[in-house]
Amino acid sequence: MTGASKLHSLAYQRLFEATASLRKGAFFETLTPETPSCACCDRSWCEVEAPFQAVRYHYGKNGETEYVCLTCYTPRIPSEEMLGLERFNVTGKTRTPIYGKLGMLVGSGGIITPRSELYLTLPPKLFEKYREGEFGQQGRLSTQKSLVRLISLLSQGALDPLVDGFVYIENWGRKVDVLMRQLTPTYSLHEVWCNSDRGVRVMNLHAMLLTAEQLHQQGLHKKAGSIVFWKPILDAAEGHRDDKAFEKWLAKVPEPAALMQSLPLDPYDRLQLPTVLGVIMDFLDDLLPYCHPKPFPALAQQTPSAPQQGALF
Ligand SMILES: [Zn+2]
Repeated sequence: MTGASKLHSLAYQRLFEATASLRKGAFFETLTPETPSCACCDRSWCEVEAPFQAVRYHYGKNGETEYVCLTCYTPRIPSEEMLGLERFNVTGKTRTPIYGKLGMLVGSGGIITPRSELYLTLPPKLFEKYREGEFGQQGRLSTQKSLVRLISLLSQGALDPLVDGFVYIENWGRKVDVLMRQLTPTYSLHEVWCNSDRGVRVMNLHAMLLTAEQLHQQGLHKKAGSIVFWKPILDAAEGHRDDKAFEKWLAKVPEPAALMQSLPLDPYDRLQLPTVLGVIMDFLDDLLPYCHPKPFPALAQQTPSAPQQGALF
């Protein structure tokens, strides 16, 4: 395995370790695969967490048979013990219990810490369904939004050391194959990889923290989550630049250059500013140390310098 694929593979390793209890006692048959690699994550059978163990899987009733690795199969395992009863399937007079699966937690998120602990965020209805399960009993479930949970775990130090890698799942959704195909770990707040069943996108959380720090220092704390305050920046990020509105906006900011310097570069990140900053501000005191982390001596030379964030649009 190359160094790069080893780094990438860590997300699968974390998920595999965090879900050992979910596979224990679950019924599924493993076999020796005849294909070169997992049909889902595409890693070769010697690279996956349970080498040369495959599970047969069909998408839907008419789907072709595929061979997936145990890690990619795990979100498809129904778990009575770890989650609990999802619903009963009624056909005629028979009621069959259907148990919850990670891969069917629509509107739910997950964070796997560097110690491979899985935290789940669920909408209230799902939370009520699964609170008696083992994950619920271990205090791993919450009704917070996934971003709020991520930032609160960060503020508690639960994601330290960041260089060991954590996994952020924004939404498990329904398309577990899409989620598992590109599961990407995060090693730095400059590049937080947001995994979902629509694919993976990156967010510069570090720039958001610097922006929050600036707002705090400039007495603009209360404006952080306000869409009205950020409007000229949001409009520009969407390609509708309004110079007059922007000048007015600058006049409201005590030190505009410093604030502009801190903003993330990516327009998509800028569109998230009110949402993400609204959350960050609630935890700001505990997050400030992440704004200017002391570099690890061994990493200091390898880390590329941060991109300049001063560009206006
Ligand atoms: Zn796989």
